[in-house]
Amino acid sequence: MDYKDTLNLPHTDFPMKANLAKREPEMLSRWDGMHIYDLIRRTSKGRKPYILHDGPPYANGSIHLGTALNKIIKDVLVKAKNMAGYDSIYVPGWDCHGLPIEHQVDKELGEKKGTLSQTEKRRCCRQYAERYVGIQREQFQRLGVFGEWDNPYLTMSYDYEAATVAELGKLYLGGGVYKGKKPVYWCASCKTALAEAEVEYQDHSTPSIYVKFPAVSDVSARLPKLAGEQVSVVIWTTTPWTIPANLAVALHADFIYVALKIKGEVLIIARELLENCLDAFGFRNEPYENLDEFPGSVLEGLKFCHPIIDRESLLIIAPFVTLDTGTGCVHIAPGHGQEDYEIGMKYGLENYAPVDDDGKFTADVKDFAGQFVFSANDAVIEKLKGAGALLGRVDIKHTYPHCWRCKNPIIFRSTEQWFVSMEKNDLRKKTLQAIDNVKWIPAWGRDRIYGMIENRPDWCISRQRLWGVPITVFTCKKCGEQLLNQPIIDNLVALVRQFGADVWFEREAKELLPAGCVCPQCGGDDFKKETDILDVWFDSGVSHAAVLEGRDYLSSPADMYLEGNDQHRGWFHSSLLESVASRGRAPYRNVLTHGFVVDGEGKKMSKSVGNVTDPQKIIDGYGAEILRLWVASADYTEDIRVSDEILKRLVEAYRRIRNTSRFILGNISDFQPDADGVPYEDMEEMDRWILHRLHEVIRRVREAYELYQFHLVYTTLYNFCTVDLSSLYLDVLKDRLYTSKAASRRRRSGQTAMHEILEAMARLLAPILTFTAEEIWLALPERPGKQESVHLTQFPEVDSAKLQPELGEKWKKLIAVKGEIARAIETARQNKVVGHSLDAAALIAAPDDIRPLLQGNLDDLRAFLIVSAVDVVGAVAVENGYPSSEIPGLCIGVSRAKGVKCERCWNYSETVGGSAEHPTLCTRCVKNL
Ligand SMILES: [Zn+2]
Ligand SMILES: [Zn+2]
Ligand SMILES: [Zn+2]
Repeated sequence: MDYKDTLNLPHTDFPMKANLAKREPEMLSRWDGMHIYDLIRRTSKGRKPYILHDGPPYANGSIHLGTALNKIIKDVLVKAKNMAGYDSIYVPGWDCHGLPIEHQVDKELGEKKGTLSQTEKRRCCRQYAERYVGIQREQFQRLGVFGEWDNPYLTMSYDYEAATVAELGKLYLGGGVYKGKKPVYWCASCKTALAEAEVEYQDHSTPSIYVKFPAVSDVSARLPKLAGEQVSVVIWTTTPWTIPANLAVALHADFIYVALKIKGEVLIIARELLENCLDAFGFRNEPYENLDEFPGSVLEGLKFCHPIIDRESLLIIAPFVTLDTGTGCVHIAPGHGQEDYEIGMKYGLENYAPVDDDGKFTADVKDFAGQFVFSANDAVIEKLKGAGALLGRVDIKHTYPHCWRCKNPIIFRSTEQWFVSMEKNDLRKKTLQAIDNVKWIPAWGRDRIYGMIENRPDWCISRQRLWGVPITVFTCKKCGEQLLNQPIIDNLVALVRQFGADVWFEREAKELLPAGCVCPQCGGDDFKKETDILDVWFDSGVSHAAVLEGRDYLSSPADMYLEGNDQHRGWFHSSLLESVASRGRAPYRNVLTHGFVVDGEGKKMSKSVGNVTDPQKIIDGYGAEILRLWVASADYTEDIRVSDEILKRLVEAYRRIRNTSRFILGNISDFQPDADGVPYEDMEEMDRWILHRLHEVIRRVREAYELYQFHLVYTTLYNFCTVDLSSLYLDVLKDRLYTSKAASRRRRSGQTAMHEILEAMARLLAPILTFTAEEIWLALPERPGKQESVHLTQFPEVDSAKLQPELGEKWKKLIAVKGEIARAIETARQNKVVGHSLDAAALIAAPDDIRPLLQGNLDDLRAFLIVSAVDVVGAVAVENGYPSSEIPGLCIGVSRAKGVKCERCWNYSETVGGSAEHPTLCTRCVKNL
């Protein structure tokens, strides 16, 4: 007789091999068929809503690992909130307007682009964005992300554009929007102003020069010691091309400057920088005389002479002058720098920037007119040299702002732009207050955005481009008065809702205004449309109005905004400003940020370095589930590493979770929970112990989800799977499961525990292992009321009756003893005393404090230790014993078990041969047949 057939060996169709790349799409189509997102929402109806508002990715190109990371974190959170008892809603969105798309369309159109009308080109941009919304939508869905994919929000949809126009109108009428000439970041290749968030800092080489400005005023009136001398102040700059726009030289009021007589003339520089300057000028070996020393304030208001242009340069005092480098005398061009502009305003200087949209000098600058500013550096330097004004030149490398799009260095240039004022209506102050009503996770996010709002200039919201929402302001052609009021806005909003923002470009001003509109200033009725469009950050910044307030099942403020930590200056920032300006409060209650994807060495991913990992490759190779596991396994508050090695480790971790689940499924295949389940109080003690551990795990995992610490969810579940279950509980349980009678209470007790464990684990894992949890769920025994998807269930509740701390403590001790015995058996195995653990008999000499515990659980202990026999004695000497170093007084003797190996259960027993019918079996097995 083959006794193998009498064992209850595991049986399941649940495949060992995950084959995720093939199985996931099948699961997706199953969910698609059952409309899983709608079902979840229907199930959650009436519960407290939880709104995670999606920050819109840009509809350009395929998703990369960073976008995948962001979407997966959001999805884990949305699913976890649903399973924790909320009605958790996720409406995905896309950012569709803006320069990058316009750029791509220009590129695709090539020569043809010049022949298209504005509307035709906008149509091309819209089609381009639609194409990528489609592509990205599929890619996000492939990740197992649930949401309202058939009704996302698009910043280019007519409704959304109408909401944007309405929001701009609100801010305009509130008095917070103005048109002014101000220096802005300007990309000459893209011909547009750029926002702070659109600027990247990279190394850039420029000549730095030292230039003399001779005095026009009589300096000796203030400094008599300089009477009769030719006096010059010396500036230092790294942007020679801005010299033609120089209007002033700034000194610090309190720094000490010296009047240095050298080579027959007097130079004014900061005392502390004297040595550096002598080197830079090549004057190291020249004899000099220090005629006078004085604080910078002494010279305020004197006039100096521009070195190459017939114009005066005013000596002013500025707080931002430093002694780090240069001369302590700062060249001021108010049209080409933010600080220069601000200090220039104070001294009534003109906001002068003789540079056009192409970055070329205007005719105003005779010598360099038509030259591109960066190319003009050398010409400016030559001209200074010719005028005898150049004291020194040193080429330096420094970090300099570059355009995010075309990667070219940009300039600071004064132009007419539209701004949202930070000071009018106290926007800055109110925004800073609003920040403290938001919970920032991690907490340093609060300080980061606070610092940014505290120091930022007015928000430049205009762009000189085409693909966006127009700045819908009219100007009277006759008197130049701006025209916008509520009836005009209402009229426009209705038009845009019907025809899209294209209507602004298609129709004349007259057709866009309510009938009979006249200029309140001069009575004129001929108006000009503004040609600038809005900054895309304004577009996405109004999503709280367009989406959260625009859909009746959503509301503002949202519970959560969740993006990469660069968004403190991006979407969090613009959304906050717009919402405070229009509604006096933040559009969110919580802001959660994550770090960025870096390679295995912690380096930023870049195409040029060649260390970019494509998410599609991971999906095709391992499955989206591994990508999800990767996201969940990392502490995303830091940068997150990815490499082949990391992925392989995760595949291995996944395999262990899967195999543990499969083992349980195999062992409960003949178990009907409702008919066969054993009541808790009748369960074996070890089974009650593992349920105690399970409920500890449930408590911990639910807490970790609540605190958005998904990596703790993962480690807790992974450790439970591998440590508690796989290498302990299930390993020990095998003997009972396989050899007991199929329907015996002892076996059913184990099955009851295993079923509860796997059912709970599937639910706890579902937000992360979205596909596999469902696969497990479907493989669990059918029972009345079992939901058709794990995603329609709730997290298991912590059952306090099953939390048995005393049992936990007791088994902790047993586990410690088991560890020591395993070591003793390992030693015996090395000494060839035994082969397999079941060959062994253990004689345990235990100290008084744990002996009763061991003696009282002898039967469990034998199974637990996976040995054939176990005996516990007092603290006596054990021959050839293994003395424990961990547990004082514990000593374990290992010998070959007595008796014969039972053919069925492989335990050694002296009872083998006791049955005539089954001579090769032990008594226990004979009874279990
Ligand atoms: Zn550019
Ligand atoms: Zn007018
Ligand atoms: Zn047996």
